[in-house]
Amino acid sequence: MTKFPYQAAIRRGWNKAVAPSSSITDPISRHRAQFLNLMLVSFMFVAPFILVIQILISPTVNLATDTSPKAVTMGLAIVFIVYIINHTPYYRIANYIAISVGLVAVVVSAMASSPPHIEILYLVALPLAGILLLSATENSIVCLLTIVCLVVFIKLMSDISNDIFKDMITFTIIVEAMILFASYQRNKLEVDRQRQVIENEKVRILSRFINDISHELRTPLSIIGTGVYLLDKSSDPEARHQRVDLIQNQIEYITVLVEDMLTMTRLDSRLLPVSNRLAIGDLVRETTTRLTEKATAKGLTVELNVQPELPPIQGDMKECQLAFTHLLKNAILYTPQGGIKVRAFMRQTSIVIEIEDTGIGISESDRSRIFERFYRVEQARTTRGTGLGLAVTKKIIEDHHGSIEVESVLGQGSLFRVILKP
Ligand code: ADP
Repeated sequence: MTKFPYQAAIRRGWNKAVAPSSSITDPISRHRAQFLNLMLVSFMFVAPFILVIQILISPTVNLATDTSPKAVTMGLAIVFIVYIINHTPYYRIANYIAISVGLVAVVVSAMASSPPHIEILYLVALPLAGILLLSATENSIVCLLTIVCLVVFIKLMSDISNDIFKDMITFTIIVEAMILFASYQRNKLEVDRQRQVIENEKVRILSRFINDISHELRTPLSIIGTGVYLLDKSSDPEARHQRVDLIQNQIEYITVLVEDMLTMTRLDSRLLPVSNRLAIGDLVRETTTRLTEKATAKGLTVELNVQPELPPIQGDMKECQLAFTHLLKNAILYTPQGGIKVRAFMRQTSIVIEIEDTGIGISESDRSRIFERFYRVEQARTTRGTGLGLAVTKKIIEDHHGSIEVESVLGQGSLFRVILKP
């Protein structure tokens, strides 16, 4: 098939224009937002052509006074506004506006035309859009409204016989009942599918978790196994002492691993952190002071610079302490020489906390992965760690509506930046 020029670019542009906003995460809402975008963008494309055709077929048309071009232009403006709303956190309202504007447009146009034949058809079909945009309950209200409007319309048609009136009402009620049934079925299917998606996700997370745990436990368990075997074989007290040390080390590692995993599971299963007023400047100061001894024992310098009178944040003290402890412990662990600088300051309306070290640094490819659970950089394997610290930190910061980023040059050092809102 021959491709017309810019086909790929047009397709990409179209897909982008109709894609639901990335802030909508729930699958049902994404479906609805996408369908609404599709209708709105199609209208935005078609409306200018309608205007041009109106002008071409009727050269006497006056854009300033004639109602039809005015209606198309107004429709275009409303469609644009609804499209914008559909990309904000209030996207649900866009669906209601779309349906209400549709209903009002049909009623207004019916009042202007006599008899309103085509408007009656539009009215009966309106709840069809409701199947895709609204819940079953919301669409029942639309069905009811359309039936009421229809009765009024037909009553206004003076030349209509009683029999045709009855037939039309019966027909409408049957169509609306079918639409309602379809709407209910669609909602049921969507809820079932969503439940299935959540169930599959749970199974996936659980199996990944079990996989990760067994993988992480295999090495220390096999070291303990070999240690016990050699301990049994050896009679030299010095060698036995070394084996016991090794076994103890591995048991300590397993204990830390289990603790970190429990923390992660606790964070995963609670909804949101406890929200208290938290003096974040003091918290950063206390955490740094608590860990300074550990850094100086390693020969590292620690510089602390907290801007006075930082505003408090809403959050959980223990969780925030844990997050900053992880960041500081890492800075100390992965810095063989030099020092660590901790800064907390206001930048515009955000509180920024930076932890900078002169350590081993993180390569570009690793930087995108270090926040994953159990991910450890190959170089870091010589030091003890579970690969859960940064995953826990990121989860805590994001649950506090903040963000965390890292800048680093391999061999020169790293800078972890936490951004929080007061
Ligand atoms: P770990 O228990 O291995 O420290 P983390 O999740 O805390 O687990 O960190 C993941 C990886 O990120 C570490 O293995 C290490 O390679 C790297 N990393 C974290 N912080 C730093 C840092 N300040 N400097 C260099 N590398 C770091």
